[in-house]
Amino acid sequence: MTPPQATTEHALAALRQRYRVERERRVRPDGAGQYHATEAEFGYYAADPYTGEPAAREPLQDTVDVAVIGGGFGGILAGARMRQQGMESVRIVEKGGDFGGTWYWNRYPGIHCDIESHVYLPMLDETGYVPEWKYAPGEEIRRHAVRIAQQFNLYSDTLFSTAVTSLTWDEDSETWIVATDRGDAFHATYVVTATGTLSEPKLPGIPGIEEFAGHTFHTSRWDYGYTGGTAEGGMTGLAQKRVGIVGTGATGIQVIPMLAEDAGHVYVFQRTPSTVDVRANRRTTAADVGADRAGWAHERRENYLRIVSGEAVEKDLVADRWTESADLLEKLLPSFRRQGDRDAFEAAYEVADATKMNELRARVEQSVTDPETAEALKPWYRYACKRPTFSDKYYQAFNRDNVTLVDTADTHGIERITERGVVVGDSAYELDCLIFATGFSVGTSGILSGKLPVHGRGGTQMLHAWAKEGPRTLHGFTSNGFPNLIQMGALQNASSVNFTHVLDEQAVHAAALVAAAEAKGALVEPSREAEDAWIAVLTEDAPDHEWFHAECTPGYYNREGRGRPSGPMAYPHGAFAFHGLLKRWREESMGEILEARASADGQTSPGDESAVGASR
Ligand code: NDP
Repeated sequence: MTPPQATTEHALAALRQRYRVERERRVRPDGAGQYHATEAEFGYYAADPYTGEPAAREPLQDTVDVAVIGGGFGGILAGARMRQQGMESVRIVEKGGDFGGTWYWNRYPGIHCDIESHVYLPMLDETGYVPEWKYAPGEEIRRHAVRIAQQFNLYSDTLFSTAVTSLTWDEDSETWIVATDRGDAFHATYVVTATGTLSEPKLPGIPGIEEFAGHTFHTSRWDYGYTGGTAEGGMTGLAQKRVGIVGTGATGIQVIPMLAEDAGHVYVFQRTPSTVDVRANRRTTAADVGADRAGWAHERRENYLRIVSGEAVEKDLVADRWTESADLLEKLLPSFRRQGDRDAFEAAYEVADATKMNELRARVEQSVTDPETAEALKPWYRYACKRPTFSDKYYQAFNRDNVTLVDTADTHGIERITERGVVVGDSAYELDCLIFATGFSVGTSGILSGKLPVHGRGGTQMLHAWAKEGPRTLHGFTSNGFPNLIQMGALQNASSVNFTHVLDEQAVHAAALVAAAEAKGALVEPSREAEDAWIAVLTEDAPDHEWFHAECTPGYYNREGRGRPSGPMAYPHGAFAFHGLLKRWREESMGEILEARASADGQTSPGDESAVGASR
């Protein structure tokens, strides 16, 4: 396909204007306040559709060495890396009935990971598993989570169907008291939080949402009891049904073609079209990915991370649309190139962006036969404004007679839900079933959302301690006043589209900290000076993304059109450089710092300020 070029200043000016108009159609005065947690409207949220009511058990009041909160990939990897460091007493606490986290809860039809399976699935070298598809189905990923948990004997002391409700530092025993919703109050010398970034489903606060009398659920709690079938399709329960689906993000793009195949009629309620790039999923062999060599998965994952972090590589091993678009994605990642002439870079970037977006809009035209539908499916914003999606079936679904696209942009989304269905403008759509593919509250870990109160030294609550100046950490993991508490996730560190890789590096670091603290007999706790020094690193080179996000169409990347949250949140040089920094810190500083801390008997170590590491 030869994409139409948009390189003239005239064409770019027209695009900018169109993007502004389209943004205004969608931006809402209530911003992120338009969403609610799922509990508010749907009683089923608390229930676990895959495990049902948990078996009764006695509350625990014993002591473990390490408590890990969360049994998704973050928690599993923390557990596995702790085992590799020789830690025997490791207890994971997990809300779901089994391991897997996001892959435990999300089992919707068509579910796949859109990051290549050979770089997404962690510990392939350690488990010897080689995925068979370039992009793995959700069930294969969930099973891999279970595989790691089994291999590292993590089932032996995991509390499933249990949510941690508070963490309290006990000065006398120098342990954390971990309280849960099952009445547990056990002690742990170290606590690792791995509560996830996409774990809280959200619903739009559409007027009347609670009045709908038909069947309804969120995609992260798919009700196969109602639809029939499996994640691979065959949803016979929908054969005669009028099904509405709200949301056309990464989830909606995967679900909609499956509904189109099985449902009587599908109404797709769209507010903002996603970019939908080529998927080209295919079977792969071990030879294709060089899986006969030791360390192949590690090498491939590093290669991928380098590319999407904006680093140069000799060969692109994964070679997909993510890596092809990596130059564009630099805007989304914190590795934005600052060298050289910034204006020239911005100008070149805008041309590349327009070319890519024109290619994607041309793809819609070539795939969708009805011109009006095709027009409504075209994305009008810059590439990095929304998470890119990939499918070779999505657009084709709109060529079927049983699929209707309902564009809700002019009314900033669905206006009203009634007992019988959905109202958009002058039209009412009667429905038997209404499915919400409306995503998750992003980036709010249990601690930051306030749902998991943490009381540190002197009973100080972490969120209160941070109320004035914002979060304070060293490397995003540890905080002064909260000894032996290690946070994993997306706080003051560096992220990547391949989030399991990020989590694995964090798990390696957490386990190394615990092992070193055990060896030296020290508490893991940075000084205030070390936190200040880390915040200075985050602030110093922080790229100015503000203007970019201010012009973007609303979404969770820019707090629904309100811009990025303030305060230094990410390491500015990208995940690849961040991992290098952590490794050097472990090798060169960690032991010395903990030794000094141990001899100072818990007093602040003067060596901490130099503990941050160079900025790159
Ligand atoms: P998103 O938050 O990306 O999408 C939510 C969708 O709901 C958007 O299309 C949004 O429209 C729409 N919506 C919300 N409110 C309304 C309303 N009132 N009326 C009409 N439409 C509305 O959620 P997803 O579950 O799709 O994805 C969340 C994240 O999960 C992804 O970004 C990705 O990180 C991850 N994911 C990853 C996958 C993978 O393969 N790796 C697969 C699936 C998800 P609008 O855009 O206008 O706000």
